[in-house]
Parts: sequence; C-alpha cells; structure tokens
Amino acid sequence: MFIMYNILDNLNKMIKEKVQIIKQRISLACSRTTQDASKITIVAVSKGRNFDQIKDVVEAGIIDIGENKVQEARFKYNTIRAGLYSLGRIKWHMVGHLQTNKAKEAVGMFDLIHSVDSLHLLAEIDKQARKISKIQDILIQVNLLNEQDKFGFKPEEMLEITEGTNKFKNLSIKGLMTIAPVVDDPQETSSYFRMLREIRDKINRLTNCRLNILSMGMTDDFEVAIEEGANMIRLGRAIFD
Ligand SMILES: *Cc1c(COP(=O)(O)O)cnc(C)c1O
Repeated sequence: MFIMYNILDNLNKMIKEKVQIIKQRISLACSRTTQDASKITIVAVSKGRNFDQIKDVVEAGIIDIGENKVQEARFKYNTIRAGLYSLGRIKWHMVGHLQTNKAKEAVGMFDLIHSVDSLHLLAEIDKQARKISKIQDILIQVNLLNEQDKFGFKPEEMLEITEGTNKFKNLSIKGLMTIAPVVDDPQETSSYFRMLREIRDKINRLTNCRLNILSMGMTDDFEVAIEEGANMIRLGRAIFD
C-alpha cells in the first residue's frame, strides 16, 4: 500500500512538472513575440487517457480538456459530472471530426467545438443548440493545403463561410482551428500557422465577424504556433507521455 501511494504520488508529480515546463516554454515563446503568456489557453487533449491523469492535469491548473470522439467524451463527461471525481469546473473541448448525427450530443456537452468542417455540420449544430436554447461557441476548421486525409474548409472558402454564418443565430464563431501539415522543418510549419492568422485577420477586416481564437499548435510545434499568433494550443503527448 505504502509503495502504491508513492508511485501514484510520483505520477502526479510528473504531470505537474510537465505542465510547469510547458508553461516555461510558452513564456519563452511569448518573449520572442508580442504575445501575452497569460492569454494562451492550453487545452489538454486527453483522448485515451484515464481519470487519474485528467485529475492530475486539473490539479496542475489546466481546466480545458479536449477529446476527439463523442463516445469517449460522453463517458468521461458523465463520470466526472456524476461527482465520481470532484474536479471543479472543467471546460470541455471537441477537437476531433464530428459526425452530423452526433451534433446533438456534442452540443449538450462541449463548451467549444473546434472542428466544425462542413456547412451541414454548421446548420445541425445551430439547430441542436436552438432546441436547448444554447449559444454554442465554435471554431471553424481550416484545411490549409486541402489535404485529402484532413477535414476542414479550404482557405479560399473562408470569407464566404464565415459571412454566411450570420444566419445561424445559435452559433457564436470564436475563431479558427487547424492541424498543420506534417513537415520536417519547423520553419516550414510556421508559414502554415501564419496563413491561418492571415485568414483570421482578413475575415475580421472584411466581414462583421470578430474572430479572436487561433487554435493551432500541438506537442511538436506549439512554440512555432505561438510565435505566429496561436492563443489556444492543443497538447496531448507533451502533458501525458
Ligand atoms: C490528439 C490531438 C492533439 C494533441 O496531439 P499531440 O501531438 O499529442 O499534442 C491535438 N489536436 C487534435 C485534433 C488531436 O486529435
């Protein structure tokens, strides 16, 4: 028993220490730009992780939890809601592809849906949110290079899409999300992150949308993303592995 406690204690410390190191890395990245480290939200992507790990993350001060599948999220959300783990207020983020037939459930659970990637889905989230009198916060996912294996709108569609969302009264579009193309050179990645920022700035200039959030940067590239303006980063392995 005694040994068991020690092991758990060490695991807990490991996540806390990792979060500390991540925060230092964020500060350092911010010091190279005009970004304010306190305005950068870390979303801990907890797919495949267990409740003890989520608890450690929350205790380390991260309350934004991301999942990429509705089914797994539902189980975690319900268990935590039922009070089996008293974690205080958690903000739930949907970061994975969302099927239209799961929109209803997603609207019931998530504070922010990052992965809105089709007109169908926009309309369905709006409809489901209206049914429960919710204004659903969303991000629009952009597929910067129009890669076959990725979801999201094309960059050149973005003005029209965001303008068109005015008619969805139960949606509040907070910003944009992307998953950067996989490249060997981090400097190349930076040009993709810059592209997303430029799309956001253009939308803000030419439409009456006011987009703030740029959800970009993961374990391998979050510092580059921050240097290009990310204010929401989605971390899995950096926190849990
Ligand atoms: C898993 C996942 C992440 C986190 O990835 P890491 O590389 O482990 O940091 C971020 N965004 C999405 C959409 C994911 O599915």
